[in-house]
Amino acid sequence: MSRTSATARSLGELVAAGALPPAALDDPVLADVARDYAIAVTPELLALMEGPPEQDPIARQFLPTAREAETAPEDLTDPIGDEVHAPIKGIVHRYPDRVLLKPLHACPVYCRFCFRREQVGPGGEALDDQELDAALAYIANHPEIWEVIVTGGDPFMLSPRRLARIVTALDAVAHVAVIRFHTRVPIADSGRVNEQLLAALKASRATVYVGVHCNHARELTPQARAAMARLADAGIPLLSQSVLLRGVNDSVEALEALFRALVAARVRPYYLHHPDMARGTGHFRLSIEEGQALMRALRGRLSGLCQPTYVLDIPGGHGKSPIGPTYLQEPNPGGDRLVSDYRGGRHHYSG
Ligand SMILES: *Cc1c(COP(=O)(O)O)cnc(C)c1O
Ligand code: SF4
Repeated sequence: MSRTSATARSLGELVAAGALPPAALDDPVLADVARDYAIAVTPELLALMEGPPEQDPIARQFLPTAREAETAPEDLTDPIGDEVHAPIKGIVHRYPDRVLLKPLHACPVYCRFCFRREQVGPGGEALDDQELDAALAYIANHPEIWEVIVTGGDPFMLSPRRLARIVTALDAVAHVAVIRFHTRVPIADSGRVNEQLLAALKASRATVYVGVHCNHARELTPQARAAMARLADAGIPLLSQSVLLRGVNDSVEALEALFRALVAARVRPYYLHHPDMARGTGHFRLSIEEGQALMRALRGRLSGLCQPTYVLDIPGGHGKSPIGPTYLQEPNPGGDRLVSDYRGGRHHYSG
């Protein structure tokens, strides 16, 4: 769509880049949306857009629309209940064996459906040195923490120096076996995955994983795949997280193309998230029944390697649960049950 060299961070810059029509500047509702939620679209993603948000799965994810001003009573400012489980700044400790570490709130791009949209943005500042030290000390003082999931914001937006500081500190904590990063950088700003970043991710003892956020096969451009190949070639296992989104990937064909492309790029699909109740994101939501029907259609049609777990983050901070579909019925009093195959055929099983 456009040829620009800088990230567009306002309605004006999106108009200048040709992503929004000039009339967008006179829309008071859009002005409200732009004030409430951060905007950033990288040149890589701008170049991928092929139409307006109503028609294009890439534009729909990243271009602000007036629909975001529509809030429903069930919308939540903290949709997954992170705040309930934050013992200190920058840490969310919900499950016994793992914590989230959130060193910053900035992202390379601001997704219009973001579940942390009330927190992310360029204004939400990173942990300062003292706060980061306190968060790392919390991890060191809790021997039950086996895994640290570094998220944000997007941790690959940190300078390599700061990233290395985090990896080195966690690597020195004997009970931390796994350091998992969640990022959209390989898709949104692939050039950041360079030698310095790879060097910063090198741990000598702990195992480093990277989870890439990707929702549509078209995001996997040659540059994005090359960035992921650099990570994989550095010995880092790659996972993906995707969000099921109306108008982006809510068809069997779109999900099939996405998961096949990820696996071919050495990325194992991990979670398909049911959309969260974030404010102003109702137009992206679909029902759990629709999501289950899509998952059912993928089973058997795609290799098991291409099957993520369909999960719901339960509002209120109760964690994630797989939400089906289920293939096994409860047994009858005689101990006999029915199990469905991938085509919907039912079979008796007793055992
Ligand atoms: C999602 C999440 C995790 C990670 O969960 P996994 O199922 O291990 O991927 C950990 N802590 C919190 C608070 C989370 O929201
Ligand atoms: S990259 Fe993740 S945290 Fe950042 S805006 Fe997108 S969904 Fe939200």
